[in-house]
Amino acid sequence: RERPIGFIGLGNMGVPMVANLVRAGHPVVAFDVSADARDRAAAVGARVVPTVQAVAAAAETIILMLPNSAIVNDVVHELAGALGDRTLLVDMSSSEPLSTRELAGRLAAVGTRLVDAPVSGGVAGAEAGRLTIMAGGEAPDVAAVEPLLGVLGRVVRVGPVGAGHAVKALNNLLSATHLWITAEAMTAGERFGLDPAVMIDVFNGSSGRSGSTETKYPRYILPGGFDSGFGLRLMLKDMQIATRLAAQVGAPSVLGEHAVERWNAAARALDPGADHTRVAAWLAER
Ligand code: NAD
Repeated sequence: RERPIGFIGLGNMGVPMVANLVRAGHPVVAFDVSADARDRAAAVGARVVPTVQAVAAAAETIILMLPNSAIVNDVVHELAGALGDRTLLVDMSSSEPLSTRELAGRLAAVGTRLVDAPVSGGVAGAEAGRLTIMAGGEAPDVAAVEPLLGVLGRVVRVGPVGAGHAVKALNNLLSATHLWITAEAMTAGERFGLDPAVMIDVFNGSSGRSGSTETKYPRYILPGGFDSGFGLRLMLKDMQIATRLAAQVGAPSVLGEHAVERWNAAARALDPGADHTRVAAWLAER
């Protein structure tokens, strides 16, 4: 029997990813601090365990799908004694690239390897097994997990450890900025008397199109569900990672920093658990 895959972080993304691993025949040992989350993972076929150490005791390859780097570092700290030279950690969360590099250095001291493999495609992509997976790490480590990650989506090798987290944050800086400018254009158009569905149709046939016009507006915003499954606070975290990175490498993003300010204003006004697509409605109402 194949050794189980460890999975820590059973939220909006983690559960459908676990479901796909199980469906593909990989046994999964899973943990989350939330009992509800553990129940949802059990319902899709994972064996849930009560501690992170129990995950490490059962699995050599451990996937993390946690909110941010601070929590990834806490979990790795808790795992410490249980990690060894057979362990390969795959951080699929959208974490901080520099924190990831530091973590890889500390883990290397005990022989544990780290691959960063953040994703795009959202909950819908996770459910369909069609994520884009941005893999950073030593070539043999990435090669070792590529078949497994292939179950979850399309793997793109992007460079050394941390490279995945860097490109992921930059992608979301674009995505969030597109959403904001789309919401401004849509609001202006509606006040002029244009039909929102007609505007989206025109933008999608023109150079103004983006993930926001192609997916977010038609699926989550125009129907009024605001149910993409990606939290506003998680998006803001990614934008901040990207703008900090840009500043650190001497290429500060003026427009990106302005977008962070606007998103921050929306985050202060909306409830903490709000979906990121709510910014469009918030902006339109002002
Ligand atoms: P989520 O908030 O739904 O899930 C995070 C899970 O981590 C929760 O179930 C929480 O209980 C658990 N958790 C928190 N602290 C923990 C700890 N110390 N130990 C164990 N579990 C802990 O978030 P999500 O939407 O699933 O996103 C996860 C990651 O993927 C984030 O970094 C996010 O930015 C990224 N991401 C999300 C989407 C999306 O559409 N939701 C898309 C791409 C990337």
